[in-house]
Amino acid sequence: MAIDGYGRVMTNDLSKVQRLHVSPAAAFRHKVREARDQGRDIVDLTAGDLDFPTPPHVVEAAVAAARRGDTRYTDVDGTPELKDAVRAHFRRQNGLIYQPAEIVVTNGSSQAIANSFIASLRAGDEVVIPSPSWQTYAGQTALAGGTPIAAPCYQNNRFKLAPADLAAAITGRTRWVVINNPVNPTGALYSHSELAGLCEVLQQHPHVWVLADNLYEHNVFDGQTSVTPLQVDPRLRDRTVTIGGVAKSYSMTGWRIGWAAGPREFIADMTRIQQLTTSCASSISQAAAVAALTGPQDVVKEYAAALQAKRDRLVRHINGSAGLSCTPPEATFYLCVACAGALGRRTPGGHLINSGEDLSAYLLEAAGVACLPGEAYALPAYVRMSFAVPAELLDRAGASIQQACGMLQ
Ligand code: PMP
Repeated sequence: MAIDGYGRVMTNDLSKVQRLHVSPAAAFRHKVREARDQGRDIVDLTAGDLDFPTPPHVVEAAVAAARRGDTRYTDVDGTPELKDAVRAHFRRQNGLIYQPAEIVVTNGSSQAIANSFIASLRAGDEVVIPSPSWQTYAGQTALAGGTPIAAPCYQNNRFKLAPADLAAAITGRTRWVVINNPVNPTGALYSHSELAGLCEVLQQHPHVWVLADNLYEHNVFDGQTSVTPLQVDPRLRDRTVTIGGVAKSYSMTGWRIGWAAGPREFIADMTRIQQLTTSCASSISQAAAVAALTGPQDVVKEYAAALQAKRDRLVRHINGSAGLSCTPPEATFYLCVACAGALGRRTPGGHLINSGEDLSAYLLEAAGVACLPGEAYALPAYVRMSFAVPAELLDRAGASIQQACGMLQ
């Protein structure tokens, strides 16, 4: 039992904390750490990071910022330079024009999403989250006192939300619909017309706001481009918050810079919350993000081309593994591997494979490869593998997975 400095017993607010489940992803990463602590050499395909370095000119900009003394608090909503760079980014990428008061810079896009929910949700308000999805949306909804509602996305629609399923998920209590494009974990990419179908449904429900998460907008393959709902349907402007960040575009996950763009009053509310929690994002990281957004953009295309080659490499390995199958994702750097063909089989040790969780435990044990169980994304009977790792590790992982799958009976 914890006692505070005044001798008072400190208790947690269980009503709040118990709603926050421990993510299966965190539990699995703990297992990977244990295996490594035992001296095992594990190929880790669980990460949400690119395996490229942050571009050198971005690192240099951070060093220069520190040297010239940009080491103090910035404006709560971000430096004017970074807000301008974010506005230019929206204009270039999506043809969207924002004023400075419509942008807030955050500590990673995670904070932008959390603050959107904290600023708006009242007890019982619902957030419609297409499923499978990044489970943090549900956790952040719960943290903010709302209720996450999973809207099913079916495999025969490449795990994209169909307009009828969106319509069925919306109630009078719906406050937000999350539209993550491209999608973590499936790598699905909504086309302009697919988003138009969803926007049409939203037109019939003017009380519902849109949280558009574009974090993977540059991790897109085969010459395609990523679109965002507001670009498709400008009528949604006064109820759309569009989220982005530098993490996955410029290999900057650790720098913690994201942003939100939306209606001025709402951005002001988010900024007030940020003031109370983190004051502002790091001044050094903001300078780095300016360099990323305003510097040469070839790097983004180079990353996408390199990721596409890695994708194809891992897809070949997986489709050559007994019981596993996958289709190449259009975007992100995640491969969702269907393990239906492995279910019901037994490991050499006699364990029955019944789920994605069982398969990822087996691959860790028998192949020394860590991949996340699909259950961590509400995608049972799948595992998620990141292909943002060096090619030789993909080959090593592929060979070990093929061997381990070949031993299932
Ligand atoms: N959105 C999605 C879909 C994600 O997968 C992630 C992180 N993996 C985030 C947002 C948050 O990223 P960050 O806070 O690093 O910008």
